Amino acid sequence: MPPPAITIAVDGPAAAGKGTLARRLAAALGYACLDTGLIYRAVAWAVLRAGGDPADDAAATRAAESLNLAVLDDPAVVAELRSDQIGQAASQVAAVAAVRRAVLPLQRTFARRPPGGQPGAVLDGRDIGTTVCPDAEIKIFVTASLDARAGRRHQELLSRGVKSIYGRVLEDMERRDALDRGRAVSPLIPATDAWQLDTTALDADQTFQRALAYIRDHLAARHGQRVSGPRATD
Ligand code: C5P
Repeated sequence: MPPPAITIAVDGPAAAGKGTLARRLAAALGYACLDTGLIYRAVAWAVLRAGGDPADDAAATRAAESLNLAVLDDPAVVAELRSDQIGQAASQVAAVAAVRRAVLPLQRTFARRPPGGQPGAVLDGRDIGTTVCPDAEIKIFVTASLDARAGRRHQELLSRGVKSIYGRVLEDMERRDALDRGRAVSPLIPATDAWQLDTTALDADQTFQRALAYIRDHLAARHGQRVSGPRATD
């Protein structure tokens, strides 16, 4: 029997840098990676595609119950899911308790049995450390000031050739933060045992190096030889 898979939870608000961090950590450690925001985006996308309203709880729940994670293997679909319109709709469906219940097993199965038989998984989202994988070995809560996050999102949109107005991005982000933090089910809050990493003054490399050093220390202390020195240069 192989040892149980190691889970790394990376939570935080939009544009704090958790997605990039999660992908780089997974690549360096040889772990699988799941962007759980894409799951809620896929639910919202399915509702909109069927001509439904993301504010309709029953439609969102039906879409969540029939969701197959294989949809995330299609790069064209994933590109569509990344739009701000889908992001806002995702925040709406993500506030529905039945939607969250429906997609919970998909996330837990990914963490327990990472696809491809990797020895661990990095899951990034809002409630991985608190609800999805409360027993995760490592919990990182990534934060950054609202200004820094809005500035990053604005630059990212401009670099993709998308028209963007900073003030609008800031407002959207505030609205999404309020929805994520204020909802009754699985609100965005750090787990009590999470390590908080403020990336306001850090670039992606510095964020990655700090997180990797933290993980290496913790996993080496707990699992000894199981963690054979991830490559800090990845
Ligand atoms: O991270 P991303 O912006 O792609 O997430 C889209 C939306 O999905 C978030 O605004 C949040 O409302 C929701 N979400 C969530 N729980 C997660 C991941 C995302 O509620 N674990």
